[in-house]
Amino acid sequence: NKENVKELEAVSGKKSGEGGSRILVFVRLRPMGKKEKEAGARSCVRIENKRDVYLTEFVNENDYLRLKRLRGRHFTFDASFPESTSQLEVYSETTAELVEAVLQGRNGSVFCYGATGAGKTHTMLGTVENPGVMVLAIKDLFNKITQRSFDGDHVVHLSYLEVYNETVRDLLAPGRPLVLREDKQGIVASGLTQYKAYSTDEVMSLLQQGNHNRTTEPTRANATSSRSHAILQVIIEYRMKDASDNIVKRIGKLSLIDLAGSERALATDQRTLRSFEGANINRSLLALSSCINALVEGKKHIPYRNSKLTQLLKDSLSGACNTVMIANVSPSNLSFGETQNTLHWADRAKEIRTKICDKNEEMVQLPESGTDQAKLLLELQKEN
Ligand code: ADP
Ligand code: MG
Repeated sequence: NKENVKELEAVSGKKSGEGGSRILVFVRLRPMGKKEKEAGARSCVRIENKRDVYLTEFVNENDYLRLKRLRGRHFTFDASFPESTSQLEVYSETTAELVEAVLQGRNGSVFCYGATGAGKTHTMLGTVENPGVMVLAIKDLFNKITQRSFDGDHVVHLSYLEVYNETVRDLLAPGRPLVLREDKQGIVASGLTQYKAYSTDEVMSLLQQGNHNRTTEPTRANATSSRSHAILQVIIEYRMKDASDNIVKRIGKLSLIDLAGSERALATDQRTLRSFEGANINRSLLALSSCINALVEGKKHIPYRNSKLTQLLKDSLSGACNTVMIANVSPSNLSFGETQNTLHWADRAKEIRTKICDKNEEMVQLPESGTDQAKLLLELQKEN
């Protein structure tokens, strides 16, 4: 399998985006929070040259300079974002290229990984004043579609779901748990709402409502459970006529994933921890780490089936997909262990190779006018 990897590299080059290949890994350092400052926290993470991340328990300049020469506490990523990085910069550097690729009929996925409080939801969803990757991606998508509307019709479908406690729920239409099943497209949640989106404004409120529907901790009202994974799927369908009047249909899927907190459940808030819940979240994230390990080691069998999360992420990790991981970290020395853990997994994720990314495009012969097929097509076009 090492040979396969070499072959892949030779065929597709280092970066994903063109023809797939390895996962792009980014690190985002958030600013020190008010509570951390009050608790006397000091910064233990340094980012230099927008690439190098240094992790140190010491803030003393000499210690830092010495550590700089040590291995193991120094990491490099495709890009690393210091505290001052804006939401738009994060979007442009991590996700903008995927959005362009999705419009070309390729699949893409972005997932945020990190401990609770590290900035995952801020990066993904953000706030009304400071929207995150999910909203900026959809905004960009609509802009691009408007610019190109002369050469075909686009439809954008959104679905937003949660995996909590090994149960999948629709965040746009809360209700009964959804069942996962496998079809031609891969693993799908049956009955999941596909919301047809027309503008960016409605999307932000929709997502905020969806986020509000995420499972909350029983003892902490209004606080999203650190054990909830949220997945936004954006499906772009595109129809156009080519020079010989054939209809070309293209489908691109973008998945934006706000993972549950990666800290070991037992290491955190003992008082609110319910062992049943903890065990299941461990299961999803453990399954994710075993899949990452198996993929890195080039194993034949990848244990996707071990959890709902890994089933849903299957095509993001191994399939024909451009994948981006954003690892979120806090600067605080009080979170040193969690940060080290996050950087370790991010470093490991750099080794994952995904398959060559094919276009999901098919040619549809234009049916003869007057036939049922032609009428159906006309209706579809009107509807879109
Ligand atoms: P997570 O989803 O990983 O648990 P959050 O995104 O909720 O973490 O972030 C925890 C807190 O830190 C929130 O109050 C959030 O507003 C703040 N925060 C996170 N990242 C940033 C950032 N880049 N800039 C400013 N505030 C941030
Ligand atoms: Mg969160």
